[in-house]
Amino acid sequence: MERTFVMVKPDGVQRGLAGEVILRLERRGLKLVGAKFMQVSRELAETHYAVHKGKPFYEGLVRYITSAPVMAMVWEGPNAIQAVRQTMGATRPTEAAPGTVRHDFALEVGRNLTHASDGPETAVAEIGLWFKPSELVSWDRATDDWIMGSN
Ligand code: GDP
Ligand code: MG
Repeated sequence: MERTFVMVKPDGVQRGLAGEVILRLERRGLKLVGAKFMQVSRELAETHYAVHKGKPFYEGLVRYITSAPVMAMVWEGPNAIQAVRQTMGATRPTEAAPGTVRHDFALEVGRNLTHASDGPETAVAEIGLWFKPSELVSWDRATDDWIMGSN
């Protein structure tokens, strides 16, 4: 079982697409284990995007993420990291596959609606950065056996 950090970025919230993103992840079979609607501080944005520091788009990226509220979430499921990245689509919306969030609702890389952890190490680090352990809920879902099975 994996957990992954997902964020509906300010453009997604402003455009009323937070529900659409949640809908698609729920429908996929993933389970929500944490969520908060929040304004991102510059400090949090800089830590979250530290890997991009020095790149030409870094300052604009920090400004974008701190410009308006976001919906920060943790989703759980088998292969959750890969599954969420697939549902969100490629970083550049014009390279994202049809049927993905970024393809279906975005045009520019600088306004690509969502963030999702890109691997097991970043998922652990990002979940720890954005959420306290007490803010995550482990719960049994009635449909779990119909979504997850080993045979
Ligand atoms: P992600 O993991 O798919 O979100 O992509 P990256 O980790 O490569 O980049 C982080 C975020 O920075 C992206 O989602 C974009 O919002 C932004 N970004 C990446 N590359 C560019 C770029 O070339 N120009 C601009 N304006 N933003 C970019
Ligand atoms: Mg990334």
